[in-house]
Amino acid sequence: MDFDLTDIQRQLQSMVTAFMEKECPPAVIRSYDEADRYPTEIYEKMAAAGWFGLPLPVAWGGTEGTAMDLALMFETIAKHWMALAAIYHTAAVFPLSILHFGTAEQHERYLRDMAEGKARFAFGLTEPGAGSDAGAVKTTAVQHGDEFVLNGAKVFTSGADVADWIILVVRTNLAMRGSSGLSVVLVDARAPGIQIRAIPKLGIKGLSTCEVFLDDVRVPVENLLGGADQGWKVVMQTLELERLSVAARCTGGCQAVLEDAVRYANERKQFGQHIGKFRAIQHIIADMEIAVQASRLLTYRLAWMIDKGLPCALEASVAKVYTAEAYNRVATMGVQVLGGYGYTMEYAMQRHFRDAKLYEIGGGTSQIQRGLIAKAIGL
Ligand SMILES: Cc1cc2nc3c(=O)[nH]c(=O)nc-3n(C[C@H](O)[C@H](O)[C@H](O)COP(=O)(O)OP(=O)(O)OC[C@H]3O[C@@H](n4cnc5c(N)ncnc54)[C@H](O)[C@@H]3O)c2cc1C
Repeated sequence: MDFDLTDIQRQLQSMVTAFMEKECPPAVIRSYDEADRYPTEIYEKMAAAGWFGLPLPVAWGGTEGTAMDLALMFETIAKHWMALAAIYHTAAVFPLSILHFGTAEQHERYLRDMAEGKARFAFGLTEPGAGSDAGAVKTTAVQHGDEFVLNGAKVFTSGADVADWIILVVRTNLAMRGSSGLSVVLVDARAPGIQIRAIPKLGIKGLSTCEVFLDDVRVPVENLLGGADQGWKVVMQTLELERLSVAARCTGGCQAVLEDAVRYANERKQFGQHIGKFRAIQHIIADMEIAVQASRLLTYRLAWMIDKGLPCALEASVAKVYTAEAYNRVATMGVQVLGGYGYTMEYAMQRHFRDAKLYEIGGGTSQIQRGLIAKAIGL
């Protein structure tokens, strides 16, 4: 394995860092976070910078970035602003299923808009009764002529309230159970019969996660993605890329906490000396560095395997569960290093404490990942 970054990858990191420092200084991030407001203005600047086309072929306005490039992008955005990295995921990763499973007409219809940030996407798999048991999807799509009629309800569909299209997992074969008989359809988020309600939540402020109610929603059959009853393979591929994205985001989050903690420990004085001189604080921060390095290695290995086309479901689960838990541990340690100030809303540390928790839950909980890991190693 060779994790040496190319000159272009280093330029990508510098370019994203410069963008984040210019467009998203701490006061800007704080204002969106406090208002829990979607950062439309920043999204448009990301689109103008061409970021959403990173993983797309040149033919669709993309730059043919690798999984490693994507990982670097996520890590660098997340280091500055975790919620913006989650928004980047909805724009640059969710719609990749159209590239991989779509028809020529679907490529034509959606991919250029994706690259230019003109179409926003959400991914609706989870339902009130289908969380970890994702194959228990009950939302139905029944074909009438050249349309599907959708009925049901989704929950936790991130970004549905700002999306143009929801990539929706539905049951097309009512006789089949579990992951068989599911399909994926591209649903116009403003179609008649759809109601969307954002659910207030703890962190990742600015990107809402929503309930989506579907009442006789009509969707043209040409919006089927990946074939009738073939939806599970679309879901699996979407989740594998989500695990890379989560691992990279958590690595960036760990790095941000580490840097804040080191800065603070070198400034704050108690008992006549910088708290960074106390061995107890040094060991906490040393543990953060260990978590950063291990997270980065697992993330880059996963990206490297995806780029090589190697099967990596096991490595994706390992990277996801490890980095998510590392970010949670590191965020807790970060609050501890800042003492009472870490617990206030005046410092950014509390944001990591709130944001980190999502990653032990979304995209498959840590318990589910451990189950997948155990199965993959023969248990
Ligand atoms: C902020 C946020 C954003 C999200 N965004 C999206 C999105 O964009 N699209 C989307 O489709 N979904 C999204 N999700 C949903 C997310 O993927 C689910 O919340 C997650 O898969 C868990 O499902 P659940 O919440 O129903 O929990 P449950 O499945 O009810 O789990 C509850 C608890 O039981 C445990 N558990 C369940 N089954 C088992 C088992 N077999 N073995 C051991 N333990 C088990 C779980 O680990 C967990 O601790 C999002 C969730 C959140 C919180």
